[in-house]
Formats: sequence, structure tokens, C-alpha cells
Amino acid sequence: MLRLTLAFALLLAACGCAAGEQASSLGPASTSSPAPAASLLPTPTPPPPRLELSASQARQGTVVLAVAVPAPEGLVAVELGGRRYLTVREGNAVLAYLPVPLDQHLGTYQVTLLENGRAVDQRPLEVVDGGYPREQLFLPPATASLLADVAAVQEEQRLLAVAYGSFTAQRLWQGAWHMPVDGPISDPFGVRRSINGGPYTPHTGTDLAVAEGTPVLAPAGGRVVLARELHLRGLSVVVDHGAGVISGYHHLSEVSVQEGQTVQAGQELGKVGSTGLAGGPHLHWEVVVSGVRVDPMAWLQSISGP
Ligand SMILES: [Zn+2]
Repeated sequence: MLRLTLAFALLLAACGCAAGEQASSLGPASTSSPAPAASLLPTPTPPPPRLELSASQARQGTVVLAVAVPAPEGLVAVELGGRRYLTVREGNAVLAYLPVPLDQHLGTYQVTLLENGRAVDQRPLEVVDGGYPREQLFLPPATASLLADVAAVQEEQRLLAVAYGSFTAQRLWQGAWHMPVDGPISDPFGVRRSINGGPYTPHTGTDLAVAEGTPVLAPAGGRVVLARELHLRGLSVVVDHGAGVISGYHHLSEVSVQEGQTVQAGQELGKVGSTGLAGGPHLHWEVVVSGVRVDPMAWLQSISGP
């Protein structure tokens, strides 16, 4: 499977190559050398936009990069599974990170490139089972009782919906992403968890087991859109990386940034803790793409390049 950045680089390279060929084919026509064969003449109209995907198959809870070259002139969107996604223009291309929700039904979908609402190209995408297991989790009653405060839980959901719902129409990061802390996964994304015998709900992030006070570093550049205490997630930082990609860092003991602040890759966002609904010190790391929670580890691997 092509990685997201690699696929994008290949497409841009292919695009640049085509432009170069066209430029060189113009050369002979302006010299006194014999007229070139008709096949070397530049085509009078630009080629239609072509849609490419970073993969033809994706697990539930992961992300596929869609790139269209050359960039269509009009308003562009990409559609998957009946939902439209915003795109970002970069050079002669437009791109969209397409999340595959955890609960997306399995099967083959058409990813459609739309220009001014009209379909101009399509590629198939097969959605396969994410293979997320179930588990039971037991927390001390005093910690678990946080779940019972419905109003506080709803307020947290409202704040997160605002932070995770924005779309910045450019990428604010460059290059590979890095782990926010260096530690083992203690609970992966997507696991259906029952807390103290309650209903099963999917784990919304990746838990990384590291000691209290460990610095949490921005895995990529972006802008802080939330830095405050949340009811269940405790002290939290949320970073908007642009292009619909947003990441969250939770249960912190300390926050090192302010809302509105720009952060660079590797900059400290806060320190690991166990605030909120946490059984002990760990980092709960979330990645949200166009409003859909995805597996941070799968995202990290796909965006790291070859
Ligand atoms: Zn967690």
C-alpha cells in the first residue's frame, strides 16, 4: 500500500513530469529545426482532472488520501459513502483526507471527485473489518462516577465538537508525524470497552503508558484550538493541523500552551497525568479527520512516508 505522503509526492512528481514534457515539446517548434511530428505538439485543452487514492482498500478507523491532478477549476469536493469532504489546494493538485468511520459498513464504495457538484472522476475503495476486539475495564467507583454527570459529559462533547469540527483549508504541517510520547500502547484505538459492566463503547484514542510528568510533544505543526480541563478527558490540549486533521492530548497533569497559539513539531504541549476518567497516568491521544475519530497509530504510519 502506498503511504499517504508517498502517494501525494508521486502524484505531484508525475504532474511536474508531465508539465516538463509539455514544455520541452514546445522547444523544437520555436527553433529552425524541422517541424516535429504531430504527436509532439501540445494538446490544445488541459487533461481532465484525475482522482487517485493512496490505497484501494482501507480498514475501518483509518484514513485514505485522495488527490486530484490537475486541480479542477471550480468548487471541488470528494464524496465517500454519501458524505462530502472538503479539499485543500496545493500547487496543481487538490487533496482530501478521507476518514473511514469505525462503524462504516463493509463493502466497496465509489470515491467521487466533484467539481461544482458534478462528478468528474471516480475510484473504488474497499472497506474491510478493523478487527477491533472487546474488553472490560474496571475503574474505582469514585472515578467511574464521573460518567454519571450527564450535563458535564454533554458540555465536554459540545466543547470537543467545536474543537474537532473546524476545517482549516491548508495543511499546517510538513513531513512525517512523530509519536507525542515514547511509550508502549496500553489500550489501542477502537476497542469496544465496557467500564465497570456498563455498555460497550469504542475507545476514541490510543492510550500510551508513560510516567506522570513525561513531556507530551506536538507530533506535527499546527494551532492550539483547546487548552483547558474537560470533565472526562481531564486537562486537555487539542491542535488543529489543517486540512481537516486535528489531534487531542488528554488526562494531562499540566498544560504548556494557550488556545490560539501556533506550535511546531516537537514543541511541548503539556505533561502526562491522570486527570479526569483515568485509572492511572497515561496519555490518551486522539486523531480526528474531518470530524471522524481515526486510529492515531494507523494515521502515524500512513503519514510518516517511506
Ligand atoms: Zn484512552
